[in-house]
Amino acid sequence: MSSDCIFCAVAVGRIPADVVAESSKVLAFRDINPAAPTHVLIIPKRHIVDSVADLTSDHAEILGEMFELAADVARVEDLDEGWRLVSNVGPAAGQTVHHLHFHLLGGWSTDTGAPRLPDERGG
Ligand code: AMP
Ligand code: ZN
Repeated sequence: MSSDCIFCAVAVGRIPADVVAESSKVLAFRDINPAAPTHVLIIPKRHIVDSVADLTSDHAEILGEMFELAADVARVEDLDEGWRLVSNVGPAAGQTVHHLHFHLLGGWSTDTGAPRLPDERGG
């Protein structure tokens, strides 16, 4: 655990979080500043790397567990119409917490659909 890492503190219960699911090595909890009707963060409980940029094939097992829990949460949260998994790397992409995590986003109405991903026009 990194002593100044917010998500390490969440993982050990030192900072309270709205936990929606967990597996042996992965935790899913609601983002405090949601960017979609449903916004859940998927993190490894251990601080294995700072971002997806540092992942290697050695991390295959924990990544599989993260993706499996993400799909479980999507089912429990009724996101069957569609959902996204996003991971920011670096300040220009908006990364603020340097503990591997995926944003699970969904819950948009099927009529309007999800917002487009940002493009070069900043849309
Ligand atoms: P990123 O900006 O991609 O590094 O994502 C970090 C996310 O963590 C942001 O969406 C924040 O709103 C969220 N966040 C920060 N602190 C907490 C916390 N204590 N509980 C839940 N979400 C948090
Ligand atoms: Zn950490």
